[in-house]
Amino acid sequence: MSVTISPESPILVTGGSGYIASWIVRQLLEKGHTVHATVRSKSKTHKYAHLTKIAESAPGTLKIFEADLLKDGSFAEGMAGCELVMHTASPFVIRGIKNPQKELVDPALKGTRNVLDSVNATDSVKRVVLTSSVVSIYGDNREIEDKKEGKFTENHWNTTSSLKHQPYSYSKVLAEKEAWKIVDGQERWDMVVINPAFVLGPSLTENSNSASLDFMKGILSGEMKMGAPDLSFGLVDVRDVAQAHLEAGYRADAAGRHITCGTETAVSMVEIGKVLKEKFGKNHPFPTRTLPKFMMYLVGPMAGFNWSGGGGTFG
Ligand code: NAP
Repeated sequence: MSVTISPESPILVTGGSGYIASWIVRQLLEKGHTVHATVRSKSKTHKYAHLTKIAESAPGTLKIFEADLLKDGSFAEGMAGCELVMHTASPFVIRGIKNPQKELVDPALKGTRNVLDSVNATDSVKRVVLTSSVVSIYGDNREIEDKKEGKFTENHWNTTSSLKHQPYSYSKVLAEKEAWKIVDGQERWDMVVINPAFVLGPSLTENSNSASLDFMKGILSGEMKMGAPDLSFGLVDVRDVAQAHLEAGYRADAAGRHITCGTETAVSMVEIGKVLKEKFGKNHPFPTRTLPKFMMYLVGPMAGFNWSGGGGTFG
């Protein structure tokens, strides 16, 4: 299916004030588009003040709408007249989850259904770009064992995560699968999926709960000074992820899933520490060594990691 999106038509970005979404909104505004960004509460202006400021000097136009993933129909107003919908909103939290069904799975799954039900009801929409994740491709590292050439591709689905084991990853698999099911039930609009690896890089907002920011603050504050978990994952710059969303939206022949990763191999936490030390000097408490295995079993669950599958991925 080839889809041409008019540059004049507004674009809905769900969760518009989030870490990744803010860069998407900025790039769209810099290109002169009209962006309909949704936030959970319009009265919490501090959460999207950075977007309003960007819009002041950008050629594009920003309109803020209120919508909640768990309130059916709440995305309809912002979606009216849009040809392109970018659905990024979904909690990305790894630590301190008490009720994974309520805190992760419900907003991801019911939220995706809610947004796509509105897409079905909004005649102007021609394409949806969904922010999924590499965690939708795989959960535990051991899933690589039966893969050809030891590589994950866009044909693979995470088969090891569950509500109890890596619930964030589970929420992303359920949401992406549901989205494909809904797409297959109609013929008016298509969907392009971006599956980013762990996203790092500058944040335009100080008010996001993204695990990316949590990780960066942790590494800067010395949380891993005594040793980092023996984890490695693919990394990607937040600005590249935003650009991937724009390409997915505006390239007429874009289709399917797209693993979006900036590193050729997985990078360990100690390697990240080494790069930071080289750049910013020795006086920062960056991680320099790996935690012994028994320590990982002790601190892992507190840090939101679950080791039973030989480690997993982030993102
Ligand atoms: P983020 O800054 O926390 O963004 C998540 C957004 O979802 C926020 O705008 C948040 O709004 C919104 N949201 C959460 N629950 C909601 C609800 N019930 N109703 C409406 N909005 C709700 O995190 P991010 O890192 O940018 O993640 C954005 C997307 O990228 C997510 O889908 C995530 O799974 C995906 N992703 C992230 C990474 C990564 O490494 N960062 C990698 C792969 C995929 P509030 O600000 O009001 O909470």
